[in-house]
Amino acid sequence: MRYLQILNFTLLLTLIACAVPENTRQLEPQVGKLKVGFDIDDTVLFSRDNFLLAPHMSDDPDHLDYGWVNLHDSLHSVIIEPVAELIGYLRAHGHTIYFITARPGINGEAVARHLSRELNFPVVVDENLFFSPKEREPETGHKFTTKHKRISSLGLHIFYGDSDTDIIAASIAGVRAVRVVRDPRSVEAYSRNYFGDTRGEPKSRAPFSEREYQKFISGGVGPFGETIYPIFSSGPDSTQVLKP
Ligand SMILES: [Mg+2]
Repeated sequence: MRYLQILNFTLLLTLIACAVPENTRQLEPQVGKLKVGFDIDDTVLFSRDNFLLAPHMSDDPDHLDYGWVNLHDSLHSVIIEPVAELIGYLRAHGHTIYFITARPGINGEAVARHLSRELNFPVVVDENLFFSPKEREPETGHKFTTKHKRISSLGLHIFYGDSDTDIIAASIAGVRAVRVVRDPRSVEAYSRNYFGDTRGEPKSRAPFSEREYQKFISGGVGPFGETIYPIFSSGPDSTQVLKP
């Protein structure tokens, strides 16, 4: 009888030993290795001119020919140096870099080729570059980010982006969000998507003024509680990170 008890106990231990590692493997933190995500437009690339030159598919100002946009970064988009340096630093320390953009994926290989050339490491569609266009909610007509799905499935630890939707996507995914401060020329061109419209009259969709925008930047915390990465730029060649 005692042998039977010992056999049962041994069998139980064996079963536990087989079952537990599957769960603990997921819970165990990896050894300090980060998976870091980056948005592309106005985060890694200053692509304002590419967007301004892109043909429109209809009268809707947002209905751009993204196949054209994705093919023309090499001509009209400029790498944002402080972010390229940050990516280089992270890679040199063994961390893994991913890109998630809300651009549609048509001609996405051209974007991968451009990033590979500019950043000096292989960027490959659906391996470390993901296209994650917004989706429209049928009832309200509002367009919402889908980046949080990719941030979650990749298991990212940090996500860098310039727009409100980048910060929202990271927050939904439960990931630290870092706001890369947009080039002032892009704020001028697309201000309605950066802390709201900081250049226009205050309204419910865009309540922040230029003064509040500067307060957020100097305080280092954005309106969603996100960390601010304070890039200031007066031109493609003079982009720099503000030193405190
Ligand atoms: Mg962006």
